[in-house]
Amino acid sequence: MLLTNHALTGIWLGSVIDQPVLGFPAGVASHLILDSTPHALWMPGPFRYTYPKTDNPGLPHFKEPRGFIIGSLDFAGALTILGVGLFIFPQRRGQIVAGWLGAVGPDLLYLPEIFFHRRFFARFKRFHSNIQWSESPYGIITEVIWALLMLRLLKLI
Ligand SMILES: [Zn+2]
Repeated sequence: MLLTNHALTGIWLGSVIDQPVLGFPAGVASHLILDSTPHALWMPGPFRYTYPKTDNPGLPHFKEPRGFIIGSLDFAGALTILGVGLFIFPQRRGQIVAGWLGAVGPDLLYLPEIFFHRRFFARFKRFHSNIQWSESPYGIITEVIWALLMLRLLKLI
């Protein structure tokens, strides 16, 4: 699922769970549940494009400029959502950061891999990859519905 959507979920969890020590694992759980729904192909492309279920460090789609740009925009979106969350819930900053970190954390584990071609947490990443059984352009429907639901629960729309 898009990192921006995971971030929205983490902010919502931080807004409703009082204990950061619970908000973090709830965020991780939300990440895994959302990734196991039919969701958008991380890198939009022609409908025939198939996501490479690769085990190669460095994730090949990041080597393409388009993949890198989309990934950077998605990451910027997730950071922006964190900023918005901290702004609208100033009294719950600890909870917001904990929920956000848990919700985006599984994907942040790829950063050292993308930039340094070093793999950490290989077993977790394999699990994380295997639960994403449906990634397609149609999955954008799930992404939009989920984003609207989160924005509604956060009373932003
Ligand atoms: Zn993920």
